[in-house]
Amino acid sequence: MPVPEAPSTVPSSPALVRFEGVYKTYDERNWVVDNLDLDIRQGEFLSLLGPSGSGKTTTLMMLAGFDAPERGRILMDGNDISTLPAYKRDMGVVFQSYALFPHMSVAENVAFPLNLRKVPTAESKARVKEALALARLEGFEDRNPSQLSGGQQQRVALARALVYRPRMLLMDEPLGALDKALREHMQLELKAIHKQLGITFVYVTHDQDEAMTMSDRVAVFNEGKIAQIDCPQAIYNRPSTRFVANFLGETNMLEGVVLSVSGGQAQIRLSEDSSIHQAGCTDPELAAGSMAALAIRPENLRLAAPGEAAVQACVIDSVFHGAHCKLRLNMAKGSELSMTYNPGNLGRAAPMPGEMLSLALPGSQAMILR
Ligand code: ADP
Ligand code: MG
Repeated sequence: MPVPEAPSTVPSSPALVRFEGVYKTYDERNWVVDNLDLDIRQGEFLSLLGPSGSGKTTTLMMLAGFDAPERGRILMDGNDISTLPAYKRDMGVVFQSYALFPHMSVAENVAFPLNLRKVPTAESKARVKEALALARLEGFEDRNPSQLSGGQQQRVALARALVYRPRMLLMDEPLGALDKALREHMQLELKAIHKQLGITFVYVTHDQDEAMTMSDRVAVFNEGKIAQIDCPQAIYNRPSTRFVANFLGETNMLEGVVLSVSGGQAQIRLSEDSSIHQAGCTDPELAAGSMAALAIRPENLRLAAPGEAAVQACVIDSVFHGAHCKLRLNMAKGSELSMTYNPGNLGRAAPMPGEMLSLALPGSQAMILR
């Protein structure tokens, strides 16, 4: 496929698309998309991640031009495209249901967008060949969709979306119907295709692993709003809300009162044992006196060194998972903690149920959240 390699993203590249104060309702009562601001950068792989009903598909449909905002604007290259018809937007779309034409062959399905655009036959043939190669479908040209597996049908949908070389590829849970192994394989292929083409990908999923493994940036959706948008590492390590912390993996939450906030850090006094801890804080609404929680991932808890500030917790149970062990612990007033550790790195015998442990809460790996 004669497409040059392009870097998967340029971190500070300008916005290709901008959502400005976009609202959408279906029942005139609830905002399904609620004052959404979003910049989509040229060439990035952006995932819209969130639970079912959080407004991801609605956002994608407005981006694709299958739906229009009630209020606000969508800009592409600075031009308002809010009401521009889908076929004029230069975006390929892949849905979870493959939406292939059952009576057409694979090649005819892929050629369909080119026929609509009246691309001459010779060029159409060359482009279909190119798109089929990109989706690894050489040799399947003459089959009908019914003669293909789910994964192969989704490749046809992908080839069809890419055949007219759109500036953006939009995908809505495209791998949702595939089994886990095939899904993981397709994730790697999609990432490779993104790198090869250098165009902008916008990918809707409710699967946090999928979003984290493929994306340059992840926008976490909650109730029609973006709770946080950043690179996967930042979303995971520095969540800005409890919702984000809990949606992406497991997090311990220790409740308390904020004592002070400054320079991206805050101090909290835990209700559990009145101990005082410092951790990251990015929430502008938090101030001295606010109720908050110290959020720390199970893999970031560790055994305290002698003399180090620590909390005391009693081991409830210990489960061996192979690569790691997982402890469930209780503090004196009932706060629960979960801790994972690598048995080879603990430097002591495995903790047993009933044992009291002194645990450090490293502030550089913890956040204070509202
Ligand atoms: P997601 O893709 O995150 O699961 P959606 O954007 O599909 O969320 O839906 C957001 C909300 O809007 C849900 O409560 C859903 O029931 C509602 N909704 C979506 N599409 C329609 C529609 N065509 N008519 C009425 N309600 C809809
Ligand atoms: Mg959806």
